[in-house]
Amino acid sequence: MKTLKDLKDLKGKRILVRVDFNVPLKNGKIDDDNRIIQALPTINYLVGSGARVILFSHLGKIDYKKATPEELKAQKAKNNLKVVAERLSEIMKQPVVFSEVTTGKELDDKVAALQDAEVLLVQNTRYEKGEEKNDPDLSASWAKLGDVFVMDAFGSAHRAHASTYGIPELLKKDGKPVAIGFLVEKEVHALSRVVNVKNSDRPYLAILGGLKVSDKIKVIDLLLEKCDKIIIGGAMAYTFQRARGFTTGNSPVEESQLDYARECLAKAKDRIVLPLDAMASDAFSPEARTVNFPTVNENIPEGFEGLDIGPKTIKLFQAEIAKAKMVFWNGPMGVFEQKEFIKGTAAVCEAIASLKGVFSVIGGGDSASAAKKLGYFDKFSHVSTGGGASLEMIENNGHLPGIDIIGD
Ligand code: AMP
Repeated sequence: MKTLKDLKDLKGKRILVRVDFNVPLKNGKIDDDNRIIQALPTINYLVGSGARVILFSHLGKIDYKKATPEELKAQKAKNNLKVVAERLSEIMKQPVVFSEVTTGKELDDKVAALQDAEVLLVQNTRYEKGEEKNDPDLSASWAKLGDVFVMDAFGSAHRAHASTYGIPELLKKDGKPVAIGFLVEKEVHALSRVVNVKNSDRPYLAILGGLKVSDKIKVIDLLLEKCDKIIIGGAMAYTFQRARGFTTGNSPVEESQLDYARECLAKAKDRIVLPLDAMASDAFSPEARTVNFPTVNENIPEGFEGLDIGPKTIKLFQAEIAKAKMVFWNGPMGVFEQKEFIKGTAAVCEAIASLKGVFSVIGGGDSASAAKKLGYFDKFSHVSTGGGASLEMIENNGHLPGIDIIGD
């Protein structure tokens, strides 16, 4: 697979770059610009090479299936990429041309007027209905704007859309160069290591948390093959506890996944590590009573919902983490958004962050924001920018459509 450094003679070339500027917005303002920052090495390298840089990204969701025309208009207004063009321009300290439209003469003219080392950002690719359908006409209208394609949107690489798949497919057919950018290169390097496990990286520990077992079945299956141990915390753990025959009070349990959990437990034996106790509350609010209950043998009573792991579990998980040579973490141990229930997630995060000489990866999403909130972001070997993409890459044993298309 070609990387950015393999591309030669970039001066004056029109480079189409798919970046992931799908940033969280609050009241129309960018709440966290990490994804913009992560795209800078590639953009700066291209600008420094005298290329003409044309950036594509989606932002948020636009629901063409259910929304009324008015709702569509509102969704588009909410997910206008203009704020990102402004922020990028501030960060880069150079103007960023913004195309309000996604296709047509106005965009074509702006691309034609672009000079060497200038940057243009195209409006949200999802303004086009054909984006998510990988519409060939849409892909062709974008592909014709460039001489080279660079894929640097790791967070969107699990989607075969027009801007992530259609463009590189067409450029390749025309014999034009396509490559991965620096961010995707970094992500692939780190996530390949957690699926292609070397003996020197063992014991290999995966820590999974979050809400649903059903979202993570394929990941659990693959990790069970690859890991020496898997810790399961968060709400997911209650489905496993119920599968073991313990009652879980009002904690979230996926009844439909009980058989699956039993199969996992039978297959994995003591390689799956489950919580010993929980912090459970009698109402989902900070004012409620929160009590520490065991989750094994004696159980969480009716009326109480487990919202975080308890102190015994923290000790157990810390001890497992201390033995690991490589750690992959995805999903919080509790409702970490509330300060009353952040302790378990914080303890796990701190335990991984304080390991020395260990390869540690956060698979994006909530765990990445927890690590950031807790101040441990820089202590991990790699924090993925793509929650869904990193999980799918693990499920697919290191493959994603938007990255595979760049290869031969
Ligand atoms: P996911 O998207 O599957 O990684 O789930 C993340 C969400 O799971 C977060 O918003 C957490 O608040 C929530 N979560 C984690 N543990 C629990 C729990 N014990 N009870 C309810 N929600 C939880």
